[in-house]
Amino acid sequence: MPSAPRGRLAPSPTGALHLGNARSFLLAWLSVRSRGGSLVLRVEDLDHPKVKPGAAAGAVEDLHWLGLDWDEGPDVGGPCGPYVQSARRARYRDALNRLRAAGLVYPCVCSRRDVEEAQSAPHRETVRSLAYDGRCRDRFASWAEARAALPPDRLPVWRFRSAPGVSSFDDLVLGRHVQDRAALGDFAVARDPDGAGYQLACVVDDAAMGITEVLRGDDLAEATHAQLALQEALGLPRPVYAHVPLVVAPDGRRLAKRHGDTRLASLRAAGVSPRRVCGLLAWWSGMAAFGEEISPPELLPRFDLARLPRAPAVLDGDAWRFLGTRL
Ligand code: GLU
Repeated sequence: MPSAPRGRLAPSPTGALHLGNARSFLLAWLSVRSRGGSLVLRVEDLDHPKVKPGAAAGAVEDLHWLGLDWDEGPDVGGPCGPYVQSARRARYRDALNRLRAAGLVYPCVCSRRDVEEAQSAPHRETVRSLAYDGRCRDRFASWAEARAALPPDRLPVWRFRSAPGVSSFDDLVLGRHVQDRAALGDFAVARDPDGAGYQLACVVDDAAMGITEVLRGDDLAEATHAQLALQEALGLPRPVYAHVPLVVAPDGRRLAKRHGDTRLASLRAAGVSPRRVCGLLAWWSGMAAFGEEISPPELLPRFDLARLPRAPAVLDGDAWRFLGTRL
């Protein structure tokens, strides 16, 4: 009998939670809770300078308002804490040192864009179609030497030496996902001299927190191959992955301000109930009828990832009618 799954909700406090984030978090919660598993809330606040003051507390409040809970997190504590990445830097430094000792990472001084890519979760639109050409492989003896080659306002980025071959994983939603490692290239691990960047932190924390299932937006499906390579290099276990479609605007684009205000805090301020918001997220996910108001626990018996629509959810006129307001 397989042991109960353990999942995580990993908000980046770079802005308020909106309907798109909320749907992925609801599905992550349902997937684990419907099988009696446990959940961790982890605040991914390494993305300076995009991290906004108060956004982490806002995410905790919004998720509770929606009706989600977790067994461990910054507000409730737990044995795998701290649950805020900026307080876990020593762990990332240790992992980076292991990669350095194995000769698997090198400092790189290429463009600013590479540097930014290293620090944030590389959602699909930021993943470059052209792999890094390895220009800085074997170029610098140390991070300090690379640092000295740059103007004072720029930092080198740590890159992983990708081995040739093919990377693949079996995604619960996307099926088998395959990528040629040559297309992945020498990907950026972190900008921080001590390795505190999204890719490394995510892999280190998923392992340290005993995460067995990662359910997140499908804009991170490609980034997963970088995470698999890091897990392999560090000898860490591989969780099961489920990448769910995003919520998009009628034009197919990622939600943006011009599509209306979909922040949970704004909907709450406008008097929309959490049951209505949850109903919309469930309707988008094939689990509720149009207009049905419902709570996350009431959705547990209906949850079936196999029935999740494979197309993105669309924030269209019907969705706004469902909410009963257009912000
Ligand atoms: N913190 C990331 C985000 O909010 C999610 C990363 C992940 O789930 O691995 O986009």
